[in-house]
Amino acid sequence: MKFLSILIVLSISFSGYSQQTNFVDFKTAKVNIAIHPKVKEVIGQVTYSFDVLKPVDSLFIDAQNMAFNKVVLNGTSATAYRYDDKKLWIIHPFRPSKDNVITLDYTTHPKKAMYFIDWNAQEGVTSSDLLQKKYIEKQVWTQGQGKYTSNWLPSFDDMKEKVIFDLNITFDKHYEVIANGRLINKKENDSTITWQYDMQQPMSSYLLALAIGKYNKKVKVSKSGIPLDLYYYPQDSLKFEPTYRYSKRIFDFLEKEIGVPYAWQNYKEVPVKDFLYAGMENTSTTIFSYAFVIDSTAFVDKNYVNVNAHELAHQWFGDLVTETSGTHHWLQEGFATYYALLAEREVFGDNYYYWRLYEYAQELLQQDQVNQGSALLDSKASSTTFYKRGAWVLHALREKVGDEVFKKAVKSYLEKHRFKNVETNDFIGEVERICGKDLKDFVATWLKNKLFPYDDALESLKQSTFIQEYLMVDCEVKTSKCDDYLVSGISDKAKIKLLSQIPDRINGDVFRNSIKVRQAIAKNLTTIPLGLKRDYESLLEDKSYITIETALYNLWVNFPDDRSKYLQKTKDIQGFNDKNIRTLWLALALNTPKFEPENKQRFFEELRNYTNPNYDFNLRQNAFQYLGLLHACDSICQENLQQATKHHNWRFSKFSKNMLETIKQEKN
Ligand SMILES: [Zn+2]
Repeated sequence: MKFLSILIVLSISFSGYSQQTNFVDFKTAKVNIAIHPKVKEVIGQVTYSFDVLKPVDSLFIDAQNMAFNKVVLNGTSATAYRYDDKKLWIIHPFRPSKDNVITLDYTTHPKKAMYFIDWNAQEGVTSSDLLQKKYIEKQVWTQGQGKYTSNWLPSFDDMKEKVIFDLNITFDKHYEVIANGRLINKKENDSTITWQYDMQQPMSSYLLALAIGKYNKKVKVSKSGIPLDLYYYPQDSLKFEPTYRYSKRIFDFLEKEIGVPYAWQNYKEVPVKDFLYAGMENTSTTIFSYAFVIDSTAFVDKNYVNVNAHELAHQWFGDLVTETSGTHHWLQEGFATYYALLAEREVFGDNYYYWRLYEYAQELLQQDQVNQGSALLDSKASSTTFYKRGAWVLHALREKVGDEVFKKAVKSYLEKHRFKNVETNDFIGEVERICGKDLKDFVATWLKNKLFPYDDALESLKQSTFIQEYLMVDCEVKTSKCDDYLVSGISDKAKIKLLSQIPDRINGDVFRNSIKVRQAIAKNLTTIPLGLKRDYESLLEDKSYITIETALYNLWVNFPDDRSKYLQKTKDIQGFNDKNIRTLWLALALNTPKFEPENKQRFFEELRNYTNPNYDFNLRQNAFQYLGLLHACDSICQENLQQATKHHNWRFSKFSKNMLETIKQEKN
């Protein structure tokens, strides 16, 4: 999983019977479910086959808040069972035996792990309703990690229980149903279709997934012959290319780099509305946030490459081999982060790779400085530690043992433990075996020590002349060199660093730099000298939504007489999916009395309209923020805000609660 920002670390604990896998081995699951989205209901039947390894008097299956209509063990419907709303216990004197079968019929209304989007959205007839209508995306999608698949399917919260799950899903026939594995049949009923998906290898329950919505797809095929099904909303055909620009290249690169063939029958990537994270690596079926469905202008600032590569890398590190517990979480997130960096190096080059490592090191150093750091093998470590320190460990280890040993060890580690669970020693032991060296000191410094070894990291980075230059170029203390740096041949990153130190040295020539340096000018030159007005205005032409947003705001503040001109120039630009430019534009237009006074009401209604539940939560948050700043969150806005406090995305619901609280306090 790739989080947009800070995550609450997943730590899984089992009450009571934690080692069920020592007694019973669940092997296959035939799942039949029908989903009724308007009432948020799942009606299902699951049949598990299992072997009993040791005598035991009961076994359990995790199941949250379900109603069981039938429990049949080996053909006997008189099976004794107990259900406590969390676990279904099957009571029976089990003897060692093969191929037992248990069938459960159940009904449930999942409160989490399965999400029903926009099914009760208003499709009215007023103009603002019609505007919203095109934003309605009726979807159902799941998120197993951290939320538990056992909320919609009786399954196993323990990651060590790996099962071959075949999902049959019955749904309204007007929608596309996507799930783990290969689609082997679509059975048409009167008003529904039953989609039959086949898996051939086992996986942990948290990696089960389905996504339902209106989708088109294009299929690419990897060098090794794996179909890559790339899904998009029908209205987004122009965004397909920039969004998936590197999907096939990343796939081919990772398969070759890792050296172990992709383990599943196909690979699917599906964007969904209001997703909880950036992306999730469900087995063969990555679900990702619609925020990454982008046009080519957005690509400059916010593209899907890193998340794409990260989730794909998980298909090996997480899905093929899975951690036994949270202590070894870096075996998933550290590896996914590292291999995503390697894929980005393939696409964007060496400098980019070292730059990102440098950024990670800075972040880890800062974390230590505020005493928030922890060892990598601490199950309560932050996501920064699991992801970024984990990636650093692999970079440093590869430098220490060399490419050949590293690649051999990774390959052998994956092959030995495929479709099973792993701990840190399984990997480190493999590296030690192949290089014939003891890695105790390395493990102590990089994995066990609470502090991130920043000095070692910096030493490693200095091999890059790009990083060397970046570190050397500095105008904290201004020298004569600082007069020329900004128009010299030093890297963009070095120039961007200097722009925050010496914004006073910006002249017309500095504007003739690349789009990223110009973006840094937009951000750093907040007081615009009259002599640079024309140059600064040219930033509104850049193909970057961040640059335009920043420049529009700063120009509006600096030159009050020209506000109408700037608004006129940018009136048709929307920005990212969260309409970063449009929402700013509306707020500025409302705050510019001379600009189209006859349209003020319309501007207000449009901005307020974006707070409506039909819109993506990122857009809603922007609209709420601007209405808050304008002290214009009226009763309709507040009603939407109240509704937003119950949103499934906790960051958004927290934001909404805070804003509602602020409004209340202002009233008093
Ligand atoms: Zn991840």
